Amino acid sequence: MVQKTLKKSYTFTGKGLHTGAFSRVTISPAPEGTGINFKRQSDGFLMPALASNVSSTARSTKLTLGDFSVQTVEHVLSALYGVGVDNAVITVDGPEMPILDGSARPYTEAFLADGLQDQSAPRQYIDLKEEIYVSDEKSGSWIRITPADKPSFDLTIDFGSKVLGIQTASYDESVDYASQIAVCRTFVFFHEIEYLFANNLIKGGDVDNAIVVVEHPVTEEQVDNIAAKLGKEKISVNSDGYLTNLSLYFPNECGRHKLLDLIGDISLAGVRVNARITGYKPGHGINTRAAALILQATDK
Ligand SMILES: [Zn+2]
Repeated sequence: MVQKTLKKSYTFTGKGLHTGAFSRVTISPAPEGTGINFKRQSDGFLMPALASNVSSTARSTKLTLGDFSVQTVEHVLSALYGVGVDNAVITVDGPEMPILDGSARPYTEAFLADGLQDQSAPRQYIDLKEEIYVSDEKSGSWIRITPADKPSFDLTIDFGSKVLGIQTASYDESVDYASQIAVCRTFVFFHEIEYLFANNLIKGGDVDNAIVVVEHPVTEEQVDNIAAKLGKEKISVNSDGYLTNLSLYFPNECGRHKLLDLIGDISLAGVRVNARITGYKPGHGINTRAAALILQATDK
């Protein structure tokens, strides 16, 4: 298979979920062999989307090179990997990628409407010599990367949540990323959202961009309070335990979103690796540590 880029440039605008800062982002075609790079609008400074540039993984993945940082890069990177874009430049004029609808759908819909551009060099699939395993004792999370004949991702989430239960989700190149993974939106627990609003940590969260999981009993007043902050007239808690600001596309949409995040974070290895990547309760910290180990193991 040959490398691919985009047919043309696509612009997205909106607020970042965490900073609330408005950004204008243009994703453009790039020459073969250049990979995915972030470009600072003001002076054209380039930062490769590689695990070696990860600077923070608190609630989202942030990349920094010199004094150039971009936060919440995981959704756009997942979209590019998922639809099969090898080379692209993401020009940004703000500190954070727009959250859009909380999924990767706006990106995949835009790219796939025009199809991708074939390039001439073959796409590289790198073989892994030995298994990679990373774990986090505190959270009980782990990621195992086992050599295989093609890339695949499997994940299990277990937040000890009655609402979410234990969810699994899988992806390989035979799965239609756009319809099965990209559409799945980010999620947050109701008890967290109160804390996040109180601490100004989700300034961009005033649009329909998150599934809200209501794990513990809440009062009508608490719900009305959050509804006001989400800019909604009236929302309630449905019988499954989700806030009715939106309805789910899949019963395991939250697990599928974690898979979307995992794919985006692992793409920071900068190569497609022939390996089965299995994640248990993965988060941005462990995902990007795994990507860094793949980057090291496959660096020539
Ligand atoms: Zn996410």
